[in-house]
Amino acid sequence: MPSQISHLPAVRRTLDRTPRRSGNDWRCCRCGALLGIHRDGLMHVSFARGHEYLFSFPATATCRRCGTLNQATGAAR
Ligand SMILES: [Zn+2]
Repeated sequence: MPSQISHLPAVRRTLDRTPRRSGNDWRCCRCGALLGIHRDGLMHVSFARGHEYLFSFPATATCRRCGTLNQATGAAR
């Protein structure tokens, strides 16, 4: 078996650099880090170590990047 494909490109990490304008993102009001995603009238927030939560509004979360406490009062439109 030929071993010519040993240099596969590493899995590209999707950086937050290109905003996909889904309209469901909840982002930090200070640094723009993604805090959560609106889903079916709830806020889906993923924390480290795989902990995931669904919040009803108003939802609050601390930004993992800058520590700002953010509050979402409703689904963004
Ligand atoms: Zn932030």
